[in-house]
Amino acid sequence: MRKSFAIIGLGRFGGSVCRELIKSDQEVLAIDSCEDRVNEYMNVATHAVVANAQDEATLRSLGLRNFDHVIVAIGEDIQASILVTLMAKEMGVPRITAKAQNEYHARVLDKVGADTVVHPERDMGIRLGHKLTSNNMLDFIELSEDYSLAEVIVTNKKFYNRTIEEINFRQHFNLTIVAIRRGKNELIVSPPANQMILENDILLVVGHNDNVDYLDDKMNR
Ligand code: ATP
Repeated sequence: MRKSFAIIGLGRFGGSVCRELIKSDQEVLAIDSCEDRVNEYMNVATHAVVANAQDEATLRSLGLRNFDHVIVAIGEDIQASILVTLMAKEMGVPRITAKAQNEYHARVLDKVGADTVVHPERDMGIRLGHKLTSNNMLDFIELSEDYSLAEVIVTNKKFYNRTIEEINFRQHFNLTIVAIRRGKNELIVSPPANQMILENDILLVVGHNDNVDYLDDKMNR
């Protein structure tokens, strides 16, 4: 379904979100106070306007409250990012995603009404850190402070040519296998207990970080 998005701030982050939404055929209003940035997105976004988003009257005249989703992608000017998030909330925007520069900024954005706070540099750092320190973990996405989604490659023969049930996976690791990626094209979604696991399968698991680490550790032995 086509949705309407307003992106405020067209830096690397806001710009990438804009391009991706347009690729998915969504309606995007791109806003930035810098004319050069707006010119860059003139032919990318559905509409692109030069505006200072800190000005409430401007946001109202742009009809911000009519958008399904507002993305506040202002980076360095933390005060502007907080103020814009607050105004979008007060206008009744149904969904607000805001980008945080640091933990304190994230907490304030959460308090003033952002539905989702993203912290791209930190999140990417955590993902990369996990990948770099593990032989078996291919990807790692934090779902909350304690829970994550991880991709773990099966390289230990204790795991392969056996079913999920035989490994006693759920009881042993307290993790849920949401999908198995096999070879280049095969994706087995929500595998049943009698699903056979093969060498080099990639398990997409969801669970507590401690359990994900435990699985990763076992895969190496
Ligand atoms: P990125 O990492 O995404 O490149 P950044 O963290 O460096 O971004 P900035 O460059 O500080 O973030 O801000 C992103 C964009 O937001 C810039 O293009 C800037 O012009 C725009 N911006 C900042 N303040 C406002 C404002 N009050 N109204 C509209 N746009 C703004």
